[in-house]
Order: sequence, then C-alpha cells, then structure tokens
Amino acid sequence: MSSKKRLISKESDFGTWYDDLLSSAALADNRYNVKGFIVIRPDLFFIINSVYGMFEKELVDSGHDQVLFPTVIPMSNLRREAEHVKGFEDQVFIVESAGGEKLEEPLALRPTSETAVYPMLSLWIRSHRDLPMRLFQSVTVFRHETKATRPLLRAREFSWIETHDAFATDKEAKDQVQEDARISSKIFDELGIPFLPLQREPDDRFPGAEETFAYDTLLPDGHALQIATTHLLGHRFSKPFDVGFLDEKGNRLHPYTTCFGPGISRIAASIIATHGDDYGMVLPFNVSRRQIVIVPIPKKGEEEVSIREKCQALERQLKANGYRVFTDSSEDRPGGKFYKWEQLGSPLRIEIGHREVEQNAVTIFRRDLRERETVGDQDISKRISELSKEIQKTTREKAWSWFKSKLKDVSVRADILKIAKKGYIIRMQYCGQEECGNDIKKDSGLEVRGKRIDIEEEPSGKCAWCGAPSVRIVYAAKSY
Ligand SMILES: [Zn+2]
Repeated sequence: MSSKKRLISKESDFGTWYDDLLSSAALADNRYNVKGFIVIRPDLFFIINSVYGMFEKELVDSGHDQVLFPTVIPMSNLRREAEHVKGFEDQVFIVESAGGEKLEEPLALRPTSETAVYPMLSLWIRSHRDLPMRLFQSVTVFRHETKATRPLLRAREFSWIETHDAFATDKEAKDQVQEDARISSKIFDELGIPFLPLQREPDDRFPGAEETFAYDTLLPDGHALQIATTHLLGHRFSKPFDVGFLDEKGNRLHPYTTCFGPGISRIAASIIATHGDDYGMVLPFNVSRRQIVIVPIPKKGEEEVSIREKCQALERQLKANGYRVFTDSSEDRPGGKFYKWEQLGSPLRIEIGHREVEQNAVTIFRRDLRERETVGDQDISKRISELSKEIQKTTREKAWSWFKSKLKDVSVRADILKIAKKGYIIRMQYCGQEECGNDIKKDSGLEVRGKRIDIEEEPSGKCAWCGAPSVRIVYAAKSY
C-alpha cells in the first residue's frame, strides 16, 4: 500500500509544481479577490510562524527588543530620504481617504519601515547611554509588484522581520552586520536551505544603504532568490531624520544604523521549493506542524480496538517525548491518508495494523527517502530521536549537493552565454564596472549578485565578460 499520485515533476516545470502543490495541499489560496494577495492556510501558516519564531529567538538572544509600528506612514516621512523614496515610490500603496473624507496627507502602507521608525528614534535616543538601541518587528509589508506575482515568492503583501539598530560607532554597526549574517547562516543551516552570502554590487544596494549584504538561494528552475538582507546605513537615515545623541564630552553626534530583513515568506517558499519532491513537501522536523502522523490500518471486518489502543498509547508516549503528533482516524482509506501526509511533508508516518499489534512493533515511513522500516515497540522512542536527526541531516546534505552542482566557474564570455539559460550560478572574474554588469544582463539574462562575504576570494586576471582587469570574483545568476 503506498501513495502513487504524483504532482508534475518539480525538475521539469517548477512553476506548475509549486502552484499545484500550494493549492492541492491547501497551503495557500489565491482566489482572494485582490490580485497579488493570497490567503495563508493553517499548514503553511505553521511553517511561516516557525520561521518567525527561529529568527525572533535569535534576535532577542542577541539583544534586540520587539516593537510594533503602525502600518501607515505619512508620505512626508517617506520623502525625507531622497534615494530611499526613489527606490520605493513606484511600488507604494497609498491611502488617500478615510471615513469618506480626503486625507489632509496621504498615507503609505509600509513598503519597509525606516521612515516610520527614525522619527521615533529621534525622540527616544538622547544620550550615548541610550545606545546601542536594537529593535525589530515582525510584520507584513506592501509593495505593488508589477512583475507576475506568485504566492510567497513575489506577492504584493509579504511577511518579514525588519530590525532597526542604532550604534554610537561605525565599528559596532559593522559588527552587527556580521551578527546578522551569523544568525542568517545558523537558521538557514537548521532549515537545510543552501545559500551564498554575498555583498551586493554598488548599483544593487537597498535604496539609501551604504552597503548591502544578501543571502541568495537557488530555486529548482535556476533562479537565484534573495531570502535575507542586511544593510549598513551609516548616517544616511539618522541625519535626515535628525537622530542624535550626546557623547560623554557633550558633543551631539548621529548614530550609525543598520537594518536586517529576513524575508520570512520567501524563506518558507524556499523550504517548500528546496526539499519538496514530486509527491509534495518534505519538511524538516523544526517547521513541521505534524512531525509524526500515526495511521491506523484496520482490515475490513476485523476488530479495531487493539489497533486503536496501540495508536492512542503511542500518541501519548510520543507527545510526552515532546513531538507534535497527530493520529489520523478519519474515514479515508489508508492510501488516501498516505497521499495526504506525504503531500504535506510530515517527516514521519507510523502505520499500525494487525501485523504490528501482533508483532509488538510499528512500521515507520520516513518522508525524505520514502522508505519503510519495522521497529519494535521498545525501540520506538530511541529510533524516532535518531530519525529526527538523520532526516535533518539528509535533507540538508541533499539540498547542498544539488546547490553545489549548480555552481560553475566560467572564464570567457562565450561560456557565460552558453550556460546562461541552463540555470547555473556562475562564478567569474569581474571588472566591477556597472556598464559591464548591464551588458551581461542584457546579453545573457544573468545578474551580477555580488562577492562572497564568508570567504576571501582573490581576484586575478581579466573580467570574464569584457576583458578589463578583474577587481573581484563575483557570482551571477538569473534572478527571481
Ligand atoms: Zn567587465
């Protein structure tokens, strides 16, 4: 007995696979009647909420306080930092009226919250004793994306965390960016999402940032997906919003600030896209709503009490061990249940029929490898503890091995053009000139995503595209 129903192959048509999975597994509903906005259903909400929880814990542990700012931002705030408003103005949703009256000042729905937070920082920060100030909020933001939208990947409202940190010195701000990178790496590793930590090119920074660092993963269709960013803002926001503090000598100075934005919606999408297979999601233990699903398998006409009792006892035992356990006692046929739980990615399924009752054992199915094994009752707790670690390790290794197979060194223009359509992240010598990056994009469709920040890669020789002297090694890919 096994589930044979498959989705369309993820490898051959990722977009259709993804859309089909989201709707057939009831993860999200895009029938809400505003284009680009979707409804998140319980099994997807659990994943999103788990990712939120992981980041929130790390942020609190590293000295951040959680806050909640209003969704609406006066347009005059948004215009205070020129480059910033230029970067967002095409995408902003604006509220023009309320209660039937035209508003005196239009209000933007936050596309990001710097211009909401900084006016308050100017009231809260007075002295060097108020620093560092590290704040974050877990919210949705609104951006009128004009490209085709796709749930979680590119939507007009999406979930993220934004930190807004202020420091007395440039050094502390730079250290915070390192800390943001450490948090990102740790969590992506726990989720088994492969990534490259990159410093973006100067023409590809967050509007208003001095430096932008970003985490890119790769979707199955070969598009690089940015899943977190952290920005060094210097005085770019603290000056126009007049955030100042008195140092020990009584001089009034502007704090150095940073912001960090893990894209929670996109991280959830990456979990689905990275680990999923043609049967549905394959969830890591840490974000699975039902880590273990128990399926009773009674035979027609036979008594079911012993099976039911065994299922109940096991559920109690595993819950006491701290697992999220669900017994599927619905009327559906076992095959239908298998299909459902495989599609929803529950890491482990335990099947209990008469054979298992008689043998004092259970059958355990692991979703990642789609393999069954028989485990004696006395060994269940130990085996599940082992499997939870094994599954975490196997899914991570499989994802990284695929990701690494998609990295290619390229040294001449002809090769860049040749492999551009094949969905690789290429590693190349680069001249660092904006025009060269634009040409690469125009002719090959690849975008220069930046240089590694986790390792030193010394440039040598010539730019693989234009032949000018190389100033750094960069990574380029089609971008989502
Ligand atoms: Zn060049």
